[in-house]
Amino acid sequence: MTLLTPLPQFESEAQSIHRVPVAVAMGDGIGPEIMRASLSVLQAAGAALEIREIALGEAVYKSGHSSGIAPETWDVLRATKLLYKAPITTPQGGGYKSLNVTLRKSLGLFANVRPNGAYAPFVATKHPGMDVVIVRENEEDLYAGIEHRQTDEVYQCLKLVSRPGTEKIIRFAFEHARRNGRRKVSCFSKDNIMKLTDGLFHKTFDTIAKEYPEIETDHWIIDIGAARLASNPKQFDVIVTGNLYGDIISDIAAEIAGSVGLAPSANIGAHGAMFEAIHGSAPPLAGKDVANPSGLLLAGVMMLVHAGQPRVAERVHNAWLRTIEDGVHTADMPQEAPGAQRVGTRAFAQAVIARLGLEPRHLAPVRYGEATPASAVPQAAPTVPATKQTVGIDVFVHWSGGTPDDLAALLRPAAGTGLELSMITNRGVKVWPQGLAETFCTDHWRCRFLAPGGAALTHAAIAALLLRLAEAGVDFIKTEHLCTFDGVAGYSLGQGQ
Ligand code: NAD
Repeated sequence: MTLLTPLPQFESEAQSIHRVPVAVAMGDGIGPEIMRASLSVLQAAGAALEIREIALGEAVYKSGHSSGIAPETWDVLRATKLLYKAPITTPQGGGYKSLNVTLRKSLGLFANVRPNGAYAPFVATKHPGMDVVIVRENEEDLYAGIEHRQTDEVYQCLKLVSRPGTEKIIRFAFEHARRNGRRKVSCFSKDNIMKLTDGLFHKTFDTIAKEYPEIETDHWIIDIGAARLASNPKQFDVIVTGNLYGDIISDIAAEIAGSVGLAPSANIGAHGAMFEAIHGSAPPLAGKDVANPSGLLLAGVMMLVHAGQPRVAERVHNAWLRTIEDGVHTADMPQEAPGAQRVGTRAFAQAVIARLGLEPRHLAPVRYGEATPASAVPQAAPTVPATKQTVGIDVFVHWSGGTPDDLAALLRPAAGTGLELSMITNRGVKVWPQGLAETFCTDHWRCRFLAPGGAALTHAAIAALLLRLAEAGVDFIKTEHLCTFDGVAGYSLGQGQ
């Protein structure tokens, strides 16, 4: 389906370009209004798009698809490889997985690119001149969504970080910086605490940075990095970070730049791409013609660049900048210049359409280069398997029968001859041997058994240990093997060990 006929002045260009098939999801809440507004601008600008509307979100969830997407919709997405998506509402309550996360992960859209620019003096901000691109890892980290309740008291969420996933996103950030003439890439992590997972992210960043000597680099622990981003964003250019950190800091960056309603995002992978605003479906604003369509419209601009229509993208972006300069604003944008007028969603889109072909007079006009072909999306190097040796096992136990010494007394006889109990921790802190009486303990214990002298441990020996523990009445709820990789320990010490 083609939604609108291009306006006459841009018709000839639109006809000369191959129409790019794109799946369009109208979304929930304010989604349909801002999508209609955005499409009206893109098509008036001459975007050559063949639109295939798909259903995603609340209605699909409520029709019995707990994922928010019907099985046949995947076929449309796999055919178009391009999705333009308005925000959707994830119904409250258990049993519904976030469709956004499912789409990003199922389609392999590993890179989430979120530009945040200030438009001072036309949109009030404490940070005129701010221009930061956040490149957020999209597939891993705590967003693996693997959670378990393990005991009466303790719940767990797994943080998974892979070497290929980390390598791809960091390389993507450097390539993005190089292609877009950006001077610096900053890495945000928390590797002072998470030495293996975030440590991998930081180390990979340092290694890949050497391949881009012309680009300045630095690393920030996420807490102080986020604080500096909020207080002095101009010291950052491109930031690459993990999934959860990126989610949080990109909302902060959008808000301090002006409004979350202004920020677009691109989700890029080797097999497709999805473009959306960073904000949600804002249910209280739905149907009132007050929502700002700018985030979604600018995501459409990113989509046009990706789809090989950079001139149309420029036309839309420059008309949008001129609209902002002319003081035509939606209600969410912080107020500023005298004479600015507040308009609704539809009138804002009409104001942008009326300025197609014009350029901003004060803000820098936008110029786009050609799109990056899918083949240029970075791949990770193949994995070279390490020499792995299992040297012990952490057995997690649900127990509330007394003190850590009591638990050790229960476990030690079950260790047998080929293993010894070396440590017990509670929520990560060592409580045996020689724990502190002040340490608060839950009913969730990690009990570390090691093979004496670093000897190799077989799966059969581990199974035999678990059998002895079961016979002793120990309620083990999970195990983690302790392995070395090329002689390097692949597990953390206990806190206080
Ligand atoms: P939200 O982004 O919808 O709203 C947060 C605040 O920003 C609200 O005050 C809202 O009025 C304002 N706002 C957001 N977009 C605006 C716009 N375009 N114009 C003017 N004001 C705007 O976040 P929320 O309230 O936490 O979430 C609402 C729903 O959206 C939830 O169901 C959530 O799961 C969903 N959500 C979806 C996406 C997505 O589809 N990508 C992203 C985030 C949240």
